Amino acid sequence: MEDDKFYCKRCGTDKSRDSFYKDKKYSTGIRQPCKDCCREKAKERRNSLSKKDPEIPETKKCSKCHIVKDANLFGKRADSLDGLRSHCKSCINESSREFYKENSEKIKSDTDNYRKNNLDKYAEWKRLRRSKDIEKYREKEQKYREDNRDKINAYHRDYNKQNRVDRLEVERRYISNNADKCKERSRKWRNKNKDKVCYYAAKRRANLKQATPPWANQDIIKSFYKEASYFQETVDHIIPLTHSLVCGLHTESNLQILPFKANCSKSNSFQIQEHLIPEWVDIEEEF
Ligand SMILES: [Zn+2]
Ligand SMILES: [Zn+2]
Repeated sequence: MEDDKFYCKRCGTDKSRDSFYKDKKYSTGIRQPCKDCCREKAKERRNSLSKKDPEIPETKKCSKCHIVKDANLFGKRADSLDGLRSHCKSCINESSREFYKENSEKIKSDTDNYRKNNLDKYAEWKRLRRSKDIEKYREKEQKYREDNRDKINAYHRDYNKQNRVDRLEVERRYISNNADKCKERSRKWRNKNKDKVCYYAAKRRANLKQATPPWANQDIIKSFYKEASYFQETVDHIIPLTHSLVCGLHTESNLQILPFKANCSKSNSFQIQEHLIPEWVDIEEEF
């Protein structure tokens, strides 16, 4: 027999050291028989036991914590003499926790790899798990959405930016298939956000005329539209954006709030009044 070969007493073959379980009790440092034979023996034992109908006792002593516990605190095992596992549930939980802690990196990478290689199976498993407890999952998802609104919005914005062409196509298709629904939603939003509608309409008009200088303070301009909407009044350009004589700018200093009727009657008329000349006229002359 060579130095690194050991003889298995059960199968009668010479095998390498790692084909045996380690055991310091023996001078050889290995336990008889070989691993394959041990597995074979255990399988035979299980087969012979699982055919019997075991009588489950009322209590059992856990072979790990040595405490006598109720039978229902042990997991079931068809191939054991009493139909129960030898370690109690809390001992098994504790050892699995310990095992997980010691091998967490490997378990995580194994799980990740398995998921990557079995995407369909994993998706199906997730779907099944969700459908079994739909209420709980809906609640969880709702809570997650509420707690992470900024993160989710940022993710969608990024995604839409990167997939702009696709997104526009999807949106176009959705709108053409749900025209009535979209119109209704848009009408509701415009009713609720009159200040924003007016603000964006004016901004669009001003942009078209290139009347918004870079120093215009959008926050102050927005506040004009908000206030006007609140008091059901309108925002007016003191010096009109479109006029044959003058060309006003879409800036905070060229805005005033007028009652709805006053703005309508003023229309696009403009008289030069010193107190109405906005500050930026002087600023511009200085440049
Ligand atoms: Zn063997
Ligand atoms: Zn125990």
